[in-house]
Amino acid sequence: MLHNYHTHTWRCHHASGTEREYIENAIKRGLKTLGFADHTPWRFDGEYYSGCRMRPEMIEDYVRTLTDLKAEYKNDITIRIGFETEYYPAYFDDLLELYRPYPIDYIILGQHWCGNEQGFPNNMGAAESEMDLALYTMQCLTGLHTGKFTYMAHPDAIRFTGSEETYRRHMLPFCREIKKMGIPLEFNLYGFWDRRAYPSERFFKIAAEVGNDVILGIDAHAPDRLLDVQTEARARQFLANLGITPIEDVTLRDPQG
Ligand SMILES: [Zn+2]
Ligand SMILES: [Zn+2]
Repeated sequence: MLHNYHTHTWRCHHASGTEREYIENAIKRGLKTLGFADHTPWRFDGEYYSGCRMRPEMIEDYVRTLTDLKAEYKNDITIRIGFETEYYPAYFDDLLELYRPYPIDYIILGQHWCGNEQGFPNNMGAAESEMDLALYTMQCLTGLHTGKFTYMAHPDAIRFTGSEETYRRHMLPFCREIKKMGIPLEFNLYGFWDRRAYPSERFFKIAAEVGNDVILGIDAHAPDRLLDVQTEARARQFLANLGITPIEDVTLRDPQG
């Protein structure tokens, strides 16, 4: 693996380590690109704020810290500055406005909630009804159609507990539409290592059938995750068994463009 675009920082309140530690480990692993995509801030209405993301006033320091490190390490590794963000229709234009003053290289779509987050259950909890699946896929596709997202992080994060047939009825057209847009799907190494419900074998069987581009994403929430090459090897084997060879790099889409 030479390029990883999914790395968090301490600012999201559930990751640890300094940016420098992540970078040093990425160099040790032999990565050529390390992309930081910490959980994006949002300017929600009212008092609500979820505790698993940085606050809007932290963008400045996030971007400045990474810009400095990008220059310092330029002979060793390419640092990219990004965000992992949901698509929340009520706030998305405001989010792009929030990014405007900063040199943001890319964003990836990680749809942790549907709706506009507030009042919606986290997608990683059990989703029982077909409506949940329909809403998730529709909202992700609407987000991806904005053309702002470089790839889709853990596309299979929704843990649907209904029938295989229903799952396929929604995920097959979902994968087809994403393929048409030319957007890669991430195979999430954090979920694979942590034995989460994603990556989901049934999802990647569908992706294999459709022929989607698949890219590995470390989703590092601690610097030592960058040194775990065994998980990468296991993931490649898992995907090979499904007939998938991951792509090694992506073309970044400019979220300001
Ligand atoms: Zn996270
Ligand atoms: Zn995520």
